[in-house]
Amino acid sequence: MKYRFLVVLWISLINLHALALPDRDAADKYIYTIDLTRVENDKVQVELSVPSMSASEINFYLPKIIPGTYKEADYGRFVTNFQAFDKKGRALEVVRQDDNTWKISKAKKLRKIIYEVNDTYDADMGANQVYPMAGTNIEDKKNFVLNTSGFFGYFEGMKDNEFELNFIRPSEFYGSTGLIPEATGIEYEYNLKKENIDADDESKLVDRFVTSDYNLLIDSPIMYNKPDTTLIDVGGTEVLVSVYSPNGLVTSKFIAENIDDILNAQRKYLGGTLPVDKYAFLFYCEDPSRLAPVQGALEHSYSSFYYFPEVPQENLRQAVKDVAAHEFFHIVTPLNIHSEEIQYFDFNNPQMSKHLWMYEGVTEYSAHHVQVKYALISDEQFLAKIQQKMQTASFGFNDTLSFTDLSKYTLDKYPDQYGNVYEKGALIGMLLDIQLLNLSDGEYGIQNLMRDLSKKYGKDKPFKDENLFNEIVELTYPQIEEFFDKYLVNGHVLPYQEVLRLVGIDYDFEKSINDYSFGNINLGFDPEARKLIVSGTDNMNEFGKKMGYKTGDLLLKINERDIPLQGLEQFIDAIKASMQEGDTFSVTVLRAGESGEKEEMILSSEIFKTARKEYHVMSINENATEQQLKIRQAWLRP
Ligand SMILES: [Zn+2]
Repeated sequence: MKYRFLVVLWISLINLHALALPDRDAADKYIYTIDLTRVENDKVQVELSVPSMSASEINFYLPKIIPGTYKEADYGRFVTNFQAFDKKGRALEVVRQDDNTWKISKAKKLRKIIYEVNDTYDADMGANQVYPMAGTNIEDKKNFVLNTSGFFGYFEGMKDNEFELNFIRPSEFYGSTGLIPEATGIEYEYNLKKENIDADDESKLVDRFVTSDYNLLIDSPIMYNKPDTTLIDVGGTEVLVSVYSPNGLVTSKFIAENIDDILNAQRKYLGGTLPVDKYAFLFYCEDPSRLAPVQGALEHSYSSFYYFPEVPQENLRQAVKDVAAHEFFHIVTPLNIHSEEIQYFDFNNPQMSKHLWMYEGVTEYSAHHVQVKYALISDEQFLAKIQQKMQTASFGFNDTLSFTDLSKYTLDKYPDQYGNVYEKGALIGMLLDIQLLNLSDGEYGIQNLMRDLSKKYGKDKPFKDENLFNEIVELTYPQIEEFFDKYLVNGHVLPYQEVLRLVGIDYDFEKSINDYSFGNINLGFDPEARKLIVSGTDNMNEFGKKMGYKTGDLLLKINERDIPLQGLEQFIDAIKASMQEGDTFSVTVLRAGESGEKEEMILSSEIFKTARKEYHVMSINENATEQQLKIRQAWLRP
């Protein structure tokens, strides 16, 4: 998963596989039906024809948590009006045990369960928010986000049965998913018996999907709406890009173009071929007025689901690349390299692994490393990204917390430290990569290690959580043991300077820099005025004081040019690059005067540099030794 919190300046976002179905008795199958054409009070009804039971009483569960999220969701909260029936349609006794559990008596007589599901996107979830990329949407005639964990449950001890899903949908809707449907566009009368459906109603059709077990079901989000899809071929892998953008600002064509070049780079990075035949990118774009505080994406084996703000798509270009690369690289880990905790995932009593540094950290590192290695970004852009991660790890999180503890206890003790898996976790990946390359004289880096681990383990063969460090040390070099011990098991601050020296990168924790600025004011976005706003002046520097900004100033123009909301970052970069000592810099603002009336004012000053402290400063050493150059080359070039 990858997520980011809503930043005030959100516009600066700137800154199927074929199933070999075992021939099983239909009586062992769960058969689910949802009628997407019948939405009432923002809810849909879920109907389950149950597999045969041998137990006399049984628990039915919706998941407390799903793989990849590392946060409890309690999907059962969104279920109401749960009823169980025998074959004659008589109600059986059901007792709700907790948010996610229903105990059903006389289970041997149980034939059918019916319940209603509300969606997470507009529900009042209280303090326990479900990440929207793992959430659900029910919007009549518009869009359905079926993160399956929000709709479908399982019986205790019966996760390995086959699951059949039937969706009755408006005929103009399309269900995007990484699953290969068993059938699409079936006429309703074909094999479904459901009341209140007119068999001759041509506006409704049925799609059917089948999964071999519950894990694959939960691994398979489906999004229904009028389609905007683009298919691309990436070295033989068929990639579906499906986008729902309520106001049409984001298109599948644009996303596909951006995903195409990053996936091609990833194919090379992974050794020439992508490890799947089919894959689906499902993008749900939300209108900014309804945007959830967290946005991001969640990985699955044959797809990934994205919850993004609906802004002019040009502003999403780099975020699409970064996040799509991250989610796709999860194909390597945890999907193909993981511990027993993940292989035997317990949806209702989850056990956590110690190795989020690898599942999320190495994945995040690789998502940026692949871009510099295959020239999608420059060395400087890559180092700027790394610097950001160092700064966030230092100042945004507890930098001396044991990283294995952070991982193991992320649900209970350290939920507020979880975000560091994308920061320090990625930096651990980078330092491990450089050290391996150095020890092997440029021959063996983290890509080789991950390939070796996925050969040894794989989708169905977990490692023992306790043994991973030893395994890696055995596969690589004894020196790595100390690194794991000191920096992952114990929580020392990472040895940036020492390791970056191996590739001829100079590093300083703190440096004083003389630079042009706009005055070091805090900027936000005023959604009503649709303008940038000065949201704080606490850290304003001498230049800012000369300009005379005040909190609440709405920014109209810079150097007499209108400030564009599209391409804002490029606009600001261009102005910064053009600043010259002695020139005049001006900002036109709208400020409330004494009468309360807003008045237009021009703030201006002669341009001069101001000193500021910068942290985690890196620069490429032009006088690096031949050995340093060799390792740098092995690190940053194909
Ligand atoms: Zn992730």
